[in-house]
Amino acid sequence: MFRAASRAACATLRPSRTSVSMRCQAYRRFSATRVTRAEGIVNSLDTFTDEENMLRESVRKFSEEVVAPKVRDMDENEMMDPEIIKGLYEQGLMGIEIPQEYGGSECSFMSAIIAIEELAKIDPSVSVLCDVHNTLVNTIFRTWGTKEQKDKFLTILSNGSVGSFCLSEPASGSDAFALQTRARKEGGHWIVNGSKMWITNAYEADVFLIFANTVRFTLTIKVDPSKGYKGITCFAATKDMGIQIAKKEQKLGIRASSTCTLNFDDMKVPEENVVGGVGQGYKIAIECLNEGRIGIAAQMIGLAQGAFNKAVPYTYERKQFGQSVGTFQGMAFQIAQAATDITAARLLMYNAARRKEEGKSFTKEAAMAKLVASQVAQRVSGQAIEWAGGVGFTRETGIEKYWRDSKIGAIYEGTSNIQLQTIAKFVQKEYS
Ligand SMILES: Cc1cc2nc3c(=O)[nH]c(=O)nc-3n(C[C@H](O)[C@H](O)[C@H](O)COP(=O)(O)OP(=O)(O)OC[C@H]3O[C@@H](n4cnc5c(N)ncnc54)[C@H](O)[C@@H]3O)c2cc1C
Repeated sequence: MFRAASRAACATLRPSRTSVSMRCQAYRRFSATRVTRAEGIVNSLDTFTDEENMLRESVRKFSEEVVAPKVRDMDENEMMDPEIIKGLYEQGLMGIEIPQEYGGSECSFMSAIIAIEELAKIDPSVSVLCDVHNTLVNTIFRTWGTKEQKDKFLTILSNGSVGSFCLSEPASGSDAFALQTRARKEGGHWIVNGSKMWITNAYEADVFLIFANTVRFTLTIKVDPSKGYKGITCFAATKDMGIQIAKKEQKLGIRASSTCTLNFDDMKVPEENVVGGVGQGYKIAIECLNEGRIGIAAQMIGLAQGAFNKAVPYTYERKQFGQSVGTFQGMAFQIAQAATDITAARLLMYNAARRKEEGKSFTKEAAMAKLVASQVAQRVSGQAIEWAGGVGFTRETGIEKYWRDSKIGAIYEGTSNIQLQTIAKFVQKEYS
């Protein structure tokens, strides 16, 4: 019955994929005008096109009306509801930047960022599913795929097949390119052997982008790892090729988002499934992770805002000593600081996204945005629990979930130390 009700709710609020595309065409026209008008005019960082505002509004409605009622059950069952994934496809949110000829919505990068931010206000697990699929998997096929790969993979990725990005391994996390998964050529195939760990979406996915090394090493020879990077290659695989899910992790947060260990045992991948050319995997992974970090920043900012939205109204309703607890200066100043921190992090994130769209360098800005957004998310969601007192500590309000979910922002797509390392390199280059 609930499903029928949510479908009905969805039908009224849902723009069809065609209408999303039509609005995106309008967006592109608007953007072109904006660029022309922008000569001599400097827009504020939170200036959005009509199209971006419309997209934000429709994702907000979908999140509040369709996702929100399922958040607690999905968290407690540690499982993504398939109806939510179906809804994301129906909304056109799983092919946001994919061209219309492949069934996508053909919207901008900023639109993807807005969708990730809005979904995270309600559920950071749903947000990361959409984020990894769009900013990593779809981006790799759009940017480096051959015409045949785009025809095959972009079409299914925008029409029901979920994607996973498989780089990390048990022994290579921050040092991601020390990966041990190997691929050797045999006839018209590559034979892939190894394991991947921590793979988001893997439980639901049909399409897997797997990074493996094609350079052979012998254990007795000490290898310069930078030489090894030259062999790293990105392979597009589908589940039926023999991907084994060895383990599904039980986690502190984003529990509805699947995180799995995968094994490949002499898995045959056709040679036409090499994405971007043999040896191009390092460049592909580095470039798309720079972009992906803006997505994680958006997820963390949405999360912080979601926790803030739940807790702050309560502080004005809850009375102690004859007044609303939110009006005591000790509380009001904390709330004011949190509102400022969220805005500052959001502007860093929008700036990185706009720089990417404008074709400017954005590696440093993306690292800064992810670093600050994950710090703010953790701080604000922790404070939100305290602002709500005892009820904030219960699972019923959902506030504590934001705090559990926030911890991952400092870990995946490069830990906070790795972001600092990136920023430090830029600073050193500039000042030394
Ligand atoms: C829920 C979840 C989902 C994930 N999803 C994916 C996915 O979809 N695809 C994928 O490929 N990977 C994924 N990952 C993996 C993630 O990117 C790694 O966990 C992350 O890069 C850190 O690697 P590690 O866990 O091995 O930690 P380690 O690299 O072992 O780091 C441990 C600690 O050492 C610090 N450290 C390491 N090196 C340095 C250094 N040079 N300087 C200073 N400090 C350092 C780190 O900052 C960290 O605090 C996911 C992880 C999780 C937990």
